[in-house]
Amino acid sequence: MALHIATPLQEDIPTSRRLGKKVFLKMECVQPTGSFKIRGIGRLAENAVARNKTHLVSSSGGNAGYSAAYAGRRLGLNVTVVVPETTPHATRDMLAGQGARVVVHGKVWDEADLAARAIVADTGAVYVPPFDDPDLWDGHSTLVSEMALKPDAIILSVGGGGLMCGVMKGLERLGWHDVAVVAVETRGADALSQSIEKNELVTLPAITSVAKSLGALRVAPEALAYARRHPTTSVVVPDRAATAACVTFATEQRMLVEPACGASLSIVYDDHPAIRQARTVVVVVCGGINVQPRDIQNWAAQSASV
Ligand SMILES: *Cc1c(COP(=O)(O)O)cnc(C)c1O
Repeated sequence: MALHIATPLQEDIPTSRRLGKKVFLKMECVQPTGSFKIRGIGRLAENAVARNKTHLVSSSGGNAGYSAAYAGRRLGLNVTVVVPETTPHATRDMLAGQGARVVVHGKVWDEADLAARAIVADTGAVYVPPFDDPDLWDGHSTLVSEMALKPDAIILSVGGGGLMCGVMKGLERLGWHDVAVVAVETRGADALSQSIEKNELVTLPAITSVAKSLGALRVAPEALAYARRHPTTSVVVPDRAATAACVTFATEQRMLVEPACGASLSIVYDDHPAIRQARTVVVVVCGGINVQPRDIQNWAAQSASV
């Protein structure tokens, strides 16, 4: 039995009315781990069980690590999450709450990731990649198969491009080659946009966006390949648009999502030109657990002050 749930696809009535088009929300924020990540990582964890593996190792202090911890608990696997010193105690507590062993190592993610890979090399444990893995994409692709309607465009956020590759796979499987993909990043986490512009994989020097879940320095090569062969519009939005969208979503839907998700929502809330031609759009509400009521309050105060 899959570890993810089939999420609702619900119309956003006020936004549909305002835009004069049909706007649907694919509610990945209601997954048991608060994000779509459990789709792919649940798949990887099940594959690990099938190979008689007993131990998962992740180096993500974010939604990937949390989904690994959840999947491991559900399947009776040991889970180790190696995080850098900068990972907030609230996050470490959430990981530990799912039964994961939390190891703090290094000042930045790269150091934590090296330690995670060393554990894998020493023990034969299974490394859980955050975005660059075909089995992970297969798991993510299930969100497209669940959609009972074919939209003109599907809006999604891009960090390392795992969600994008999964959605692309799902569209291919259904033969929906003409469904436009709007791939959204925030400024300062725009590795895909820059790669499309340069027509080669670009590695960012640093992540300067508030949308930490979009903070991959470099996207999976397959994400760039998909952008070349499937109708794709790459959009970069400012942090302010992403955080304002989190405030609107909290107000209208009474649920909290990270700026990584707000980035996609801002496309419909701000009636972005990228969806001008589309009459029916689906927003992948990718979710995220790294958000508190006080963040929403702060972002609301920022929006009010412009
Ligand atoms: C992981 C994540 C993303 C980005 O997904 P990628 O597969 O890295 O592109 C976006 N939003 C949330 C909430 C995430 O957890």
